[in-house]
Amino acid sequence: MKNLLKLSSLLAVLVSIFMACSSDNDSTDDDDDEGTATLHAAFEAFNTDATTIYLDGSNVVIETTGLPDHETVYWGEGNALYREEPGVALTPSIMTSNNNAVTITVDATPNLTGNTVSTQVNTIGIAVSGSSLFNDQEGNGALDAAAASLDWTGAHIGPGVYHYHLEPKAFSDDDDNLVGILLDGVFLYGRKCNSTGTYPTDLDASGGHTSTTQYTDGQEEYHYHIINEIYSTTGSYLAFAGPYQGY
Ligand SMILES: [Zn+2]
Ligand SMILES: [Zn+2]
Repeated sequence: MKNLLKLSSLLAVLVSIFMACSSDNDSTDDDDDEGTATLHAAFEAFNTDATTIYLDGSNVVIETTGLPDHETVYWGEGNALYREEPGVALTPSIMTSNNNAVTITVDATPNLTGNTVSTQVNTIGIAVSGSSLFNDQEGNGALDAAAASLDWTGAHIGPGVYHYHLEPKAFSDDDDNLVGILLDGVFLYGRKCNSTGTYPTDLDASGGHTSTTQYTDGQEEYHYHIINEIYSTTGSYLAFAGPYQGY
């Protein structure tokens, strides 16, 4: 009788150990965070005076005043950030004459299906300065005709917002700096890649590839680079000509 009692209590201990183990496994499975988006570390590089950046479900919303944190002739005389640029064929607008505000919503995780989507003549992304990025087109044609109006950092004001077409030298000049984020949720970097310290040689048709960056904590991630070919007579480089890879 005594032995039987011992046996049954031993069984009870064994059963409780087994249950403890299996419940541990269950709780590990319950820690499944798939689908819970987090704000990418690269957003820390954005101009906080101009931008408000937050998660909305699986999307990231980027609200910006569009006003950059660097000098340009397009601030207009009298502004603290006004820079004299006699060589620039000015458009009729200055920063304060236009509404430069833009809000974009992008996937927190780009949808890299292999499908590509062309860029439009409008904001194609938001730069770390807070201003818009545009592609290689201008209004009703190629950018060449409007290139004379681009300031020292590859930007101008068309009828709409202040925007960059070229390598924005105010914050990326032949380096691996973060340039901005495009509408497909993919980040755009300078002409060099942080993964190698030099110009990448494995870029696809969009100027993109998969490697680590200074914001990915050792993980490989798809991103674009500024096109490392002198564009037209500008002596500079196109920021992005498309197509998007992340829609
Ligand atoms: Zn333009
Ligand atoms: Zn790269």
